[in-house]
Amino acid sequence: MERIHALGEIGKDAEGRRTRLAASDAEKEGRDLVAGWIREAGLELVVDRIGNMFGIWQTAENRQEKPLMTGSHIDTVINAGQYDGCLGVIGGIEVIKTLREGGHKDRKTGCRRRFHQRRGRALFPGYDGFPGLRRRNGSG
Ligand SMILES: [Zn+2]
Repeated sequence: MERIHALGEIGKDAEGRRTRLAASDAEKEGRDLVAGWIREAGLELVVDRIGNMFGIWQTAENRQEKPLMTGSHIDTVINAGQYDGCLGVIGGIEVIKTLREGGHKDRKTGCRRRFHQRRGRALFPGYDGFPGLRRRNGSG
């Protein structure tokens, strides 16, 4: 919840309305915060050519397995709630952080886990980062 609130503070105006439009300074500030959390969770941070961010958990045990992805977006509409998108991004980071701290190497499920932050569809019409990543991994 601490992280949800911290991210939720970014992009608030004097009246308390939260807006982090894609490619805005506020979104950049949010992305920098999330990038720090990804690294802190021990994940490899990868940013693709159009700005999608991935936190990759890869171990010797799961290297050959197909990836399992979780995530969402941190850009917002005008006057947005604090949970939209952010809950999915931060929730995913927390799950992997907890698994890693518990000594799991993902041997049983054998999945890499990635966190995905999608830029606004309005800015990149028709773009969806998931099919791109699936293609890159040869799984779809
Ligand atoms: Zn959303």
